[in-house]
Amino acid sequence: MKKLTLISLLSSTLLFANINAIVSILPQKTFVEAIGGDKVNVALMVLPGNSPHTYEPKPSQMKDVAGAELYFAIGVEFENVWLDKFKNLNKRMQVIKLSSGIEKLLMTAHHDEAHDDEAHDEHHDEHHEEEHAEEHQGNDPHIWTSPDNVKIIAGNIYEALTKADPANESYYKLNFQKFISLIAETDRKIKSILSNRPKGTKFMVFHPSWGYFAQAYGLKQLPVELEGKSPKPKELIALIKEAKEEQISAIFTQPEFSDSIAKVMANELHIKVIKVSPLAPNWSENLINIANAIADKE
Ligand code: ZN
Repeated sequence: MKKLTLISLLSSTLLFANINAIVSILPQKTFVEAIGGDKVNVALMVLPGNSPHTYEPKPSQMKDVAGAELYFAIGVEFENVWLDKFKNLNKRMQVIKLSSGIEKLLMTAHHDEAHDDEAHDEHHDEHHEEEHAEEHQGNDPHIWTSPDNVKIIAGNIYEALTKADPANESYYKLNFQKFISLIAETDRKIKSILSNRPKGTKFMVFHPSWGYFAQAYGLKQLPVELEGKSPKPKELIALIKEAKEEQISAIFTQPEFSDSIAKVMANELHIKVIKVSPLAPNWSENLINIANAIADKE
């Protein structure tokens, strides 16, 4: 048997050590793994089935934080509460803002919880928490539902990985280019699926996760949830009327939220309830699926 030499021990632990990275949500894991390949270990914070607006990390996840070199933040609300705590726990961990370079959309009529990660840094005072939530009510955090945004996100990931691990730059570059082609192909497929839809086609969603997707393809999402809350009976009647007028053919819900209201509406309107999560790991297929559902082509 071969003896473990000091050199081989050093090279396996130092030279070939993977980057330990953390992401907030599943689609980010897909993005970081696409570019980082087998040179990056990616730990996920918001575990499947949970909402990134309200998530609380498990104690075991704090161990991942303690051993991480990079945290890829995307601007979901739980980061506003937890990132500072993570940084205190691991001072050498670098936080990369993947939303950097992306223009945030204003939300149409809801989400009391959504706020911008950058804006958060300006107001640390706890007394302002409530004002703060109100102030930034308009920012839509679901940036990863648009292929163009994911190109920017991919660029930010590529840059961070090459900076952290310059020795593998060419490896990351090749993966980055492959991923950019996949994004472009996804975009082409969605455009072709939606090509016969009139501009401004509306689709109904329970939680308003698809604003950037709608903007990218000239669609409009009608959210059922109003300011992060289920609609009151009067609002529900107005929504049903609107859905009838707009000839909505389905309501999209996601497993992270209750779909009881959507079911009531779907019964009333004789339309389908389609479960589709913006947090699905198969990002490309997922966007193509929702395009098919909107075009009523399943
Ligand atoms: Zn959301």
